Amino acid sequence: MSQAKKILYRGVPMIEGWPEKIMAAQEIVSLTLKGRAIPRIRYGDEHSGWGANQHPCGDCAVFKGELHVPSCDIEECPSCGEQLITCACAFDEDAEDA
Ligand SMILES: [Zn+2]
Ligand SMILES: [Zn+2]
Repeated sequence: MSQAKKILYRGVPMIEGWPEKIMAAQEIVSLTLKGRAIPRIRYGDEHSGWGANQHPCGDCAVFKGELHVPSCDIEECPSCGEQLITCACAFDEDAEDA
């Protein structure tokens, strides 16, 4: 079982350290595909309704209009519209070093 401590951030229960991940995620506004920056899909802008008006993201706990924490399974790919963590798009992982 996980030993991660549960905390409350903005009224939402999550593991300790997660608020920092949410804050860091807001800085990553786009993904790079073949050298082209594509803005990420914010929670609530997905094609499928995830209930953004009713509750925070069920996976990463961001609020509507915020960017998902990387590896969230609800984030939609801005290129193909599929689930980002499983889609086939080959985003440039190391664009900053290029
Ligand atoms: Zn999410
Ligand atoms: Zn994709």
